[in-house]
Amino acid sequence: MHCNICGGTEFEAYRGRPDERCTQCGSKARHRIALEVYEKLLFPLAGKGAKLLHLAPEKFLYPLLKERFGSGYVTADASPERYPHAEPVKLFLPQGFSIFAAGEFDAIIHNHVLEHIPGHYKDHLAGFVNWLKPGGLMILSVPGPYMERQTEEGGEHLSSDSERLEKFLQEDHLKCFGADFVETLRNWPGGSLLPDGISDDQRAELSVRPGKAPFFVWQRDAE
Ligand SMILES: [Zn+2]
Repeated sequence: MHCNICGGTEFEAYRGRPDERCTQCGSKARHRIALEVYEKLLFPLAGKGAKLLHLAPEKFLYPLLKERFGSGYVTADASPERYPHAEPVKLFLPQGFSIFAAGEFDAIIHNHVLEHIPGHYKDHLAGFVNWLKPGGLMILSVPGPYMERQTEEGGEHLSSDSERLEKFLQEDHLKCFGADFVETLRNWPGGSLLPDGISDDQRAELSVRPGKAPFFVWQRDAE
């Protein structure tokens, strides 16, 4: 087992998940899977002047993306102060879906972002898809999704963090994604859902349990 971000070989439990976190760089399973997916599907776009939008730009991934995409790399978040390494544009969603033009980006990446946006996730997917160029890629992950249940939303209407913690498993989570989320992506008009392409053997090598940290790759149809 090794960490593809820092080369470390030791992992520790995190929030009850064994061997989840790299003891050297602190990356979690989803960061290592992200890099694996980006190497295969995203990095080939770099160097062709591609424009990439990264929401909630994780410190593990930021330098690797900046190095490849250079001035085409745009970061954004509702709380820029949480990401001082990246100096992201302040973007509060869903109100901010108007700040970039339609078709602005060759690729959009976001991990564990959708569960923090108030409103309906289908409206948010529509906003992101609108920012993609024809042929563009959106690569994303969310907690779960929990395939034995349906998505529940509305955490913004609960009155306390403790209620959100109980219902959505974290104080600042506004929703919990279920099987319909995957079906919605699969059936989203104007593009197709591609597999993340990471086998369970590759997951094991990255200290990720079988099938965990699934990534979704949605590609807009070329015109
Ligand atoms: Zn590491």
